[in-house]
Amino acid sequence: MSGDTPWIRGGLRIARAVLDDIERHAAQDYPSECCGFIFGPAQDWALLDAAQREENEADKYHRLDPKRFPRTSEMYFKINELRAARTFEDAARAERPVKVIYHSHCDAGAYFSEEDAATFASDHQLMWPCAFLVVSVMKGNVVDRKLWVHTPGTNEFEASTIDTV
Ligand SMILES: [Zn+2]
Repeated sequence: MSGDTPWIRGGLRIARAVLDDIERHAAQDYPSECCGFIFGPAQDWALLDAAQREENEADKYHRLDPKRFPRTSEMYFKINELRAARTFEDAARAERPVKVIYHSHCDAGAYFSEEDAATFASDHQLMWPCAFLVVSVMKGNVVDRKLWVHTPGTNEFEASTIDTV
Protein backbone atom coordinates (compact mmCIF):
# COMPACT_ATOMS: atom_id res chain seq x y z
CA MET A 1 0.00 0.00 0.00
CA SER A 2 2.70 2.51 0.95
CA GLY A 3 4.45 1.54 -2.31
CA ASP A 4 1.81 3.57 -4.16
CA THR A 5 1.56 6.21 -1.46
CA PRO A 6 5.10 6.73 -0.13
CA TRP A 7 4.17 10.13 1.38
CA ILE A 8 2.35 8.34 4.22
CA ARG A 9 5.81 7.65 5.69
CA GLY A 10 6.60 11.39 5.93
CA GLY A 11 9.83 13.20 5.17
CA LEU A 12 7.92 15.71 3.04
CA ARG A 13 8.73 19.05 1.43
CA ILE A 14 6.22 21.91 1.26
CA ALA A 15 6.26 25.10 -0.77
CA ARG A 16 6.71 28.05 1.62
CA ALA A 17 3.67 29.90 0.17
CA VAL A 18 1.47 26.86 0.77
CA LEU A 19 2.57 26.53 4.39
CA ASP A 20 2.04 30.27 4.85
CA ASP A 21 -1.52 29.93 3.57
CA ILE A 22 -2.25 27.00 5.91
CA GLU A 23 -0.88 28.95 8.87
CA ARG A 24 -2.98 32.00 7.89
CA HIS A 25 -6.03 29.72 7.79
CA ALA A 26 -5.19 28.41 11.29
CA ALA A 27 -4.74 31.94 12.69
CA GLN A 28 -7.92 33.27 11.02
CA ASP A 29 -10.11 30.46 12.35
CA TYR A 30 -8.76 30.71 15.90
CA PRO A 31 -10.24 29.94 18.43
CA SER A 32 -11.81 27.28 16.19
CA GLU A 33 -9.76 24.43 14.77
CA CYS A 34 -9.32 24.64 11.01
CA CYS A 35 -8.78 21.75 8.61
CA GLY A 36 -7.95 21.04 4.97
CA PHE A 37 -6.06 18.99 2.41
CA ILE A 38 -2.55 19.33 0.99
CA PHE A 39 -1.75 18.04 -2.50
CA GLY A 40 1.27 17.43 -4.64
CA PRO A 41 2.35 15.79 -7.87
CA ALA A 42 2.30 11.98 -7.96
CA GLN A 43 5.69 11.93 -9.74
CA ASP A 44 7.46 13.91 -7.01
CA TRP A 45 6.09 11.98 -4.07
CA ALA A 46 7.57 14.13 -1.25
CA LEU A 47 6.52 17.52 -2.66
CA LEU A 48 3.47 19.43 -1.40
CA ASP A 49 2.54 22.35 -3.65
CA ALA A 50 -1.15 23.15 -3.06
CA ALA A 51 -3.65 23.29 -0.20
CA GLN A 52 -7.44 23.38 -0.02
CA ARG A 53 -9.37 24.68 2.96
CA GLU A 54 -12.21 22.53 4.26
CA GLU A 55 -15.04 23.43 6.60
CA ASN A 56 -14.75 22.23 10.18
CA GLU A 57 -18.25 20.76 10.58
CA ALA A 58 -18.03 20.40 14.34
CA ASP A 59 -20.27 23.43 14.97
CA LYS A 60 -22.84 22.30 12.41
CA TYR A 61 -23.28 18.96 14.19
CA HIS A 62 -23.25 20.66 17.57
CA ARG A 63 -26.08 23.00 16.53
CA LEU A 64 -28.19 20.15 15.13
CA ASP A 65 -27.69 17.75 18.03
CA PRO A 66 -25.85 19.24 21.00
CA LYS A 67 -26.56 16.18 23.15
CA ARG A 68 -24.87 13.78 20.79
CA PHE A 69 -22.21 16.31 19.74
CA PRO A 70 -21.51 18.29 22.92
CA ARG A 71 -18.23 19.76 21.73
CA THR A 72 -17.65 22.66 19.37
CA SER A 73 -15.00 23.57 16.81
CA GLU A 74 -12.88 24.96 19.64
CA MET A 75 -12.40 21.42 20.89
CA TYR A 76 -11.96 19.30 17.77
CA PHE A 77 -12.48 19.17 14.05
CA LYS A 78 -14.84 17.16 11.91
CA ILE A 79 -14.11 16.91 8.22
CA ASN A 80 -16.87 15.93 5.79
CA GLU A 81 -16.10 12.29 5.02
CA LEU A 82 -17.99 12.12 1.75
CA ARG A 83 -16.20 15.21 0.46
CA ALA A 84 -12.92 13.75 1.70
CA ALA A 85 -13.53 10.45 -0.12
CA ARG A 86 -14.39 12.30 -3.35
CA THR A 87 -11.41 14.61 -3.01
CA PHE A 88 -9.01 11.69 -2.47
CA GLU A 89 -10.45 9.86 -5.50
CA ASP A 90 -10.48 12.85 -7.84
CA ALA A 91 -7.00 13.95 -6.80
CA ALA A 92 -5.54 10.47 -7.26
CA ARG A 93 -7.11 10.23 -10.72
CA ALA A 94 -5.60 13.61 -11.66
CA GLU A 95 -2.19 12.41 -10.39
CA ARG A 96 -2.30 15.24 -7.82
CA PRO A 97 -2.97 13.09 -4.75
CA VAL A 98 -3.97 14.32 -1.33
CA LYS A 99 -0.80 13.62 0.64
CA VAL A 100 -1.64 15.35 3.92
CA ILE A 101 -4.73 16.27 5.98
CA TYR A 102 -4.01 19.32 8.10
CA HIS A 103 -5.74 20.74 11.16
CA SER A 104 -4.99 23.18 13.95
CA HIS A 105 -4.94 22.99 17.74
CA CYS A 106 -5.99 26.09 19.65
CA ASP A 107 -3.98 26.96 22.76
CA ALA A 108 -2.51 23.47 22.61
CA GLY A 109 0.64 22.00 21.13
CA ALA A 110 1.20 20.47 17.69
CA TYR A 111 0.98 16.95 19.09
CA PHE A 112 -1.21 14.20 17.65
CA SER A 113 -3.97 13.75 20.20
CA GLU A 114 -5.55 10.44 21.20
CA GLU A 115 -8.69 11.60 19.44
CA ASP A 116 -6.71 12.40 16.28
CA ALA A 117 -5.23 8.89 16.37
CA ALA A 118 -8.68 7.34 16.94
CA THR A 119 -10.06 9.37 14.02
CA PHE A 120 -7.38 8.34 11.56
CA ALA A 121 -6.44 4.78 12.52
CA SER A 122 -8.71 1.85 13.30
CA ASP A 123 -7.93 -1.85 13.76
CA HIS A 124 -4.26 -1.01 13.17
CA GLN A 125 -5.08 0.39 9.75
CA LEU A 126 -4.56 3.92 8.49
CA MET A 127 -7.98 5.29 7.45
CA TRP A 128 -6.81 7.70 4.72
CA PRO A 129 -3.62 7.20 2.66
CA CYS A 130 -1.90 10.36 3.85
CA ALA A 131 0.24 12.00 6.52
CA PHE A 132 -1.07 14.63 8.98
CA LEU A 133 0.04 18.17 9.70
CA VAL A 134 -0.93 19.74 13.02
CA VAL A 135 -0.54 23.51 13.48
CA SER A 136 -0.41 24.92 17.00
CA VAL A 137 -2.06 28.32 17.49
CA MET A 138 -1.49 30.03 20.83
CA LYS A 139 -3.54 33.18 21.58
CA GLY A 140 -4.13 33.61 17.85
CA ASN A 141 -0.52 33.18 16.77
CA VAL A 142 0.91 30.13 15.01
CA VAL A 143 3.78 28.89 17.14
CA ASP A 144 4.51 25.37 15.88
CA ARG A 145 3.67 22.81 13.23
CA LYS A 146 4.48 19.10 13.12
CA LEU A 147 3.99 16.31 10.62
CA TRP A 148 2.67 12.99 11.91
CA VAL A 149 2.64 9.60 10.21
CA HIS A 150 0.98 6.30 11.00
CA THR A 151 3.10 3.59 12.62
CA PRO A 152 2.34 0.47 10.54
CA GLY A 153 0.52 -2.33 12.36
CA THR A 154 -0.64 -0.07 15.22
CA ASN A 155 -3.21 2.61 16.01
CA GLU A 156 -0.38 5.02 16.80
CA PHE A 157 1.28 7.92 15.05
CA GLU A 158 4.81 9.23 15.23
CA ALA A 159 6.43 12.56 14.41
CA SER A 160 8.08 12.99 11.03
CA THR A 161 9.64 15.93 9.20
CA ILE A 162 8.36 18.59 6.83
CA ASP A 163 10.78 21.04 5.23
CA THR A 164 9.90 24.22 3.39
CA VAL A 165 11.21 24.66 -0.15
ZN1 LIG B 1 -5.98 17.32 16.66
